[in-house]
Amino acid sequence: MLLSKYLLPTLKETPADAEITSHKLMIRAGMLRKVSAGIYNYLPLCLRVIKKIENIVRDEMDKAGALELLMPILTPAELWQESGRWTVYGKELMRMQDRHENEYALGPTHEEVITALARNEVKSYKQLPLCLYQIQDKFRDEVRPRFGVMRSREFIMKDAYSFHSSEKCLDNYYQIMYEAYSNIFKRCGLRFRAVLADSGAIGGDNTHEFMVLAQSGESRVISCPNDNCGYAATDETAKSKIFQPEKEEFLELRLVDTPSQKSIEEVSNFLKLPKYKLVKTLLYKYDDGVAAALIRGDCEVNEIKLKHILNTINLELADDKTIEEISGCEPGYAGPLNLKKQIKLICDSSLKQLTNFVVGANEKDKHYINVNHQRDFKIEKFYDIRLANPGDRCINCDAVLEEYRGIEVGQIFKLGTKYSAKMNAVYNAEDGKLKPFVMGCYGIGITRIVAAAIEQNNDEKGIVWPLNIAPFSVIILPLNKPNSEEFKIAEKIYNEIKIKNIDVVLDDRAVGPGFKFKDAELIGIPYQIIVGAKSLNEQSIEIGIRKTGEKILVKISEVSEKIEELLYEK
Ligand code: ATP
Ligand code: MG
Repeated sequence: MLLSKYLLPTLKETPADAEITSHKLMIRAGMLRKVSAGIYNYLPLCLRVIKKIENIVRDEMDKAGALELLMPILTPAELWQESGRWTVYGKELMRMQDRHENEYALGPTHEEVITALARNEVKSYKQLPLCLYQIQDKFRDEVRPRFGVMRSREFIMKDAYSFHSSEKCLDNYYQIMYEAYSNIFKRCGLRFRAVLADSGAIGGDNTHEFMVLAQSGESRVISCPNDNCGYAATDETAKSKIFQPEKEEFLELRLVDTPSQKSIEEVSNFLKLPKYKLVKTLLYKYDDGVAAALIRGDCEVNEIKLKHILNTINLELADDKTIEEISGCEPGYAGPLNLKKQIKLICDSSLKQLTNFVVGANEKDKHYINVNHQRDFKIEKFYDIRLANPGDRCINCDAVLEEYRGIEVGQIFKLGTKYSAKMNAVYNAEDGKLKPFVMGCYGIGITRIVAAAIEQNNDEKGIVWPLNIAPFSVIILPLNKPNSEEFKIAEKIYNEIKIKNIDVVLDDRAVGPGFKFKDAELIGIPYQIIVGAKSLNEQSIEIGIRKTGEKILVKISEVSEKIEELLYEK
């Protein structure tokens, strides 16, 4: 490739609307241009990176026995209605009508389409297991598209779906996919972790997310530092152990004045009691009405966990009017005793050991002290609705948990019969009965990987591509003008290297050496072959290594060999 013929609109200035490093660098390196919110042109340099990632993904999927296919982007509403997701998916699903007023959605994921395909085409257990995948544009009308291709509205995803005749077979294949995913991210040169994630309504340890470690990551991971344990989970799902106070003898329940003291902080200061002695009563609106979540004052509610327990799609803190209706009092004093209306109480297990605690009295400026559950109000079951935090203890090995941030680049999921049962996708089992497929699904955000890789691999000069996903492996920089001696040598080296099927680009533009170096560094090409006057006299040239800044002096006659050595022996 000749740079003079390439579209490489690099920019000196940092774009004003880009917040994170990868987004800034993708624009500055001439990789990305915005068309509309969360919608982008991937320029030639970017597409080369995308193709390299896709090829690694394809290779590992093929090795895992998956077959590539391509499904439509435009998907009919009927399929989404069959699974029930037409109503559940909400505003993220991009919907549209055709000229006959039939409804469609632009696919955000393809469980429905593939389940319908398997329903029609896979009849017998003899055809199982089967795994199909595609690499395709996906559409999600994200509330806040941001950070460039990190969270866009149109993005490229690899999605795979597997079909099995038993849970055991699925468990097996899940492990194969886990390995394939680990290989993919390793080959892309990323530092990553696989962590337990929220598995929605299905529950259990059914899903892992693959996180690229980065400070700018939107996901919070709670992890155990003990290598023998290795517990790690997203904050949505993480469990932990916390300090448990000694049980005390029950004291007499009392109503006390707490004038204008509403928050945990205020009440704890006013009553001179530690926060854990206070119990928060948070009223939530959900699909079936209003529920109260009770948790110790030093803890926070994890709304994802609460959502699963209430089996609800919608969940939000109740508004003031609702709070007044339920508690009979202005917000700030709600408690489990004497609520005006009976509602469901979801009590966190942090309350289990707690004795003589404080709750709101459902009366303005008043709290109850010395409250004890079972004596003063009944708790039938304790739940885990608590947000785990670093500093808490590991549920497996008791070590002190840590926290890091990550970018979710992939997720693998055991679906079971969630879709096949709803959509009546059945096959003839070995015992002659019709059974729904046991399914798994496996996604990777291809375009998000591009951004994640840059987040992890950059310096003040620009991108530092991991070799396997670099747009070009080598850039040749003749420092003198076209038609100069250096230029001719550079062309010769270029032709020599190109024949070897190495991704090489020659910067043959009529610009100064400073400009060439800046661009080469900005776009992050791993190896630079620098052909300057000095090296010309000595019949040797310099190979610059982008990652370390190191320069190696090599005889001109040995350049292509040295490059091969650098590319293939690492
Ligand atoms: P997130 O929690 O980040 O919204 P998700 O869990 O909804 O993602 P999945 O349904 O698991 O995403 O999709 C598979 C993969 O697709 C994700 O792991 C991620 O890499 C990628 N992805 C999802 N949404 C986007 C997006 N808006 N822009 C770019 N990539 C995305
Ligand atoms: Mg996900």
